[in-house]
Amino acid sequence: MDLSNKMFSEIPMVFSYHWNLGNINWLMTAWTTWAHAVAFVGLFKIMDCRKETLIWAFLLWPISGIGITVGAHRLWSHRSYSAALPVRVFLMLCNSIANQGSILHWARDHRVHHKHSETDADPHNAMRGFFFAHMGWLLLKKHPEVIRAGKELDFSDLHEDPVVMFQKKLDPWFALYMCFVFPAQIAVRFWGENFWTAFFVAGGLRYVYVLHCTFLVNSAAHLYGDHPYDIMSHPAENPYVSFFAIGEGWHNWHHKYPFDYATSEFGISSQFNPSKLFIDMLAAVGLVWGRKRGTAAWDMGRARRERDRKAGVPLPKPVSRPWEATAVKGGIEIVHWKPTAGVKRVRKV
Ligand SMILES: [Zn+2]
Ligand SMILES: [Zn+2]
Repeated sequence: MDLSNKMFSEIPMVFSYHWNLGNINWLMTAWTTWAHAVAFVGLFKIMDCRKETLIWAFLLWPISGIGITVGAHRLWSHRSYSAALPVRVFLMLCNSIANQGSILHWARDHRVHHKHSETDADPHNAMRGFFFAHMGWLLLKKHPEVIRAGKELDFSDLHEDPVVMFQKKLDPWFALYMCFVFPAQIAVRFWGENFWTAFFVAGGLRYVYVLHCTFLVNSAAHLYGDHPYDIMSHPAENPYVSFFAIGEGWHNWHHKYPFDYATSEFGISSQFNPSKLFIDMLAAVGLVWGRKRGTAAWDMGRARRERDRKAGVPLPKPVSRPWEATAVKGGIEIVHWKPTAGVKRVRKV
């Protein structure tokens, strides 16, 4: 587990570095700033809310959450199960309330992330520190390797899904409506809430909260936790992230077996995973089928590891992260990335 302070303390220096190079994505920076300002206002509006609005805002956490976990992630990014049209429409609507970019773009970035995890071609490469993996990657222009990697993958299955393309066609206006206006309209229509109070709390505040719950999978679950399934893989088993991201924190398993619809080894009784429960409930009524699991592959992997252990073969060691390497070398060098040129800059300290 890495708890280095370096990846946090260097944020201002790294920001000014990218500012000077013109690497800031101003549109996304403006959007992210606006969204956080709306959420901040929402914090003060909580006291003005009717209790129904607070319950509604709370419920929108799992509702918009499954649009990401069950929809964009497990169904559309990984094809870990198949779903009937009404389920896909429902998940697309939930996904639009989450407003994390269209399913097409989300799944594209995520497939690139899995194929090139912890490298320059990973959109939220956790080797660049907590903040970059969490949300910094959205505030900067993409690394050229990410763009190149995206062009090499096949997304034809997404282009052939009319539900995905419907949302893409209306992006971003439909998602903006579903994220901010629709929750407020429900609150006004059914319990007479003030529109703007619901807009700021059930819309803006809930949106930014769920956003950070999702971000934790890319940051905390790539930095903190255990690695029981693949010691060479940085993604980790993190129960805290699983709580916030409704079951997506079992990330060492997920990167080892990304086709597994549960994204975890065990059942929901021992690993918090409401997203798995939701898929299982849909399967019970025949709306979902073809759920894939990684348990058989893991049984073989575990047997192989046991054989190696008895034969005295040592476990391999993962590559150190830049700040860990620095610590090992006694503060010799810090490695920064230069997205516009796609090369690493090494600075002596
Ligand atoms: Zn990951
Ligand atoms: Zn994934």
